[in-house]
Amino acid sequence: MFRQKLEDSFALGQKMQAKCKHSFIDACVRTMTIKSGRHFLQIPGPTNVPDRVLRAIDNATIDHRGPAFRDLTLELLPKLKSVFQTEGDVVIYPASGTGAWEAALVNTLSPSDAVLMYETGHFATLWSQLAAKLGLEVNIEPGDWHGGADAALIENRLHEDNEHKIKAVAVVHNETSTGATTNVAKIRKAIDNANHPALLMVDTISSLASIDYQHDAWRVDVTVAGSQKGLMLPPGLSFNVISEKALKASETASLPRAYWNWTEMLQANKNGFFPYTPATNLLYGLNEALDMLLEEGLDNVFARHSRLAEATRQAVRAWGLEILCNNPDEYSDSLTAILMPSGHDADAYRAVVLDNFNMSLGSGLGKVAGNVFRIGHLGDFNELMLAGTLCGVEMGLELAGVPHQSGGVNTAMNYLTETSLHKTISNNRSAA
Ligand code: PLP
Repeated sequence: MFRQKLEDSFALGQKMQAKCKHSFIDACVRTMTIKSGRHFLQIPGPTNVPDRVLRAIDNATIDHRGPAFRDLTLELLPKLKSVFQTEGDVVIYPASGTGAWEAALVNTLSPSDAVLMYETGHFATLWSQLAAKLGLEVNIEPGDWHGGADAALIENRLHEDNEHKIKAVAVVHNETSTGATTNVAKIRKAIDNANHPALLMVDTISSLASIDYQHDAWRVDVTVAGSQKGLMLPPGLSFNVISEKALKASETASLPRAYWNWTEMLQANKNGFFPYTPATNLLYGLNEALDMLLEEGLDNVFARHSRLAEATRQAVRAWGLEILCNNPDEYSDSLTAILMPSGHDADAYRAVVLDNFNMSLGSGLGKVAGNVFRIGHLGDFNELMLAGTLCGVEMGLELAGVPHQSGGVNTAMNYLTETSLHKTISNNRSAA
């Protein structure tokens, strides 16, 4: 009898323990899978789309051959030019950035033309591979993925090219895989110093509307851009800005082109239309995003990015981690790529951050896959979004057992406080 009672209560105890264990596990699984609040999208693009832009996209699709659409195109094209700092023509493709890469090349070059490129990282490499697939002769200068394109080296290569076989120099302004910028004004000067007629093509996919970029002043011939980063839109639009010289080159260029042909696009755009069905709702969003950028003022947009980027770098240094770009003059203001301490996998760390804090950080790409993670700090972004991002990074380092010193978040907060508008105004008052 007594033995039976004991056995019954033991079995009950086991059942209750199992139940507790399961409900605890269920609770954990729920917490890991159901995420409340906003996801932190801190990859270096696509970036967080502001509510104003989302609301603009959320409107009825209209007839793209009707008067309302014509008015929209004619309203947004001049605003778009201001963001590229150009008086030249800008064309918009319903395509990702890769399409605009291809458009730049096929409109201006002929089979076997030589193109000089510089391996700043993964995206410069991809662009060079695309050029090779089109039948161009690609000369890509090897780089160490720690900085921007070397203008002196480009100048030397152009000096050596007495026969002017090189028809274009193509560089990435902000290398999204490494967080390093190229000084485009210096590349322009290198081409001028060599007195070389090559066209200058620049990829601004992760710099436009985040880092100062001047198509006209730097006499760029073709600028390539995309919608999903500084322009604060979803992916799906890309752009070419075209100089007079590039337009002239397009008259004799003989690489096959149809969908990407500038001529038909420019012709239709003059009257507010497109040669094929445009991405109507993304264009509503673009119009709104341009208003937001111009209301803030481009200089303020660049200053905001620069300050948030500096706060990020200060946090990284305080953690005792290494920034992939090793030249401070070339630090990117739109993203920071961070090297993992050896023996630690960047993707495993990113998974810990995603699972625990609902935040996506950028992965390492190409040669630096697994060794680097990237913090995107571009687009619709402010101090508190950055503070939340850095908190997630720091807590993730702790949870994933990545060796670091704590205090990165505090360092960034101090910098943001010291450089706040309030401090600046009161410092100016006391100096006056
Ligand atoms: N160039 C740069 C600098 C990029 O960052 C990217 C994408 O992130 C691309 C080109 C390719 O653009 P997409 O993926 O939109 O085709």
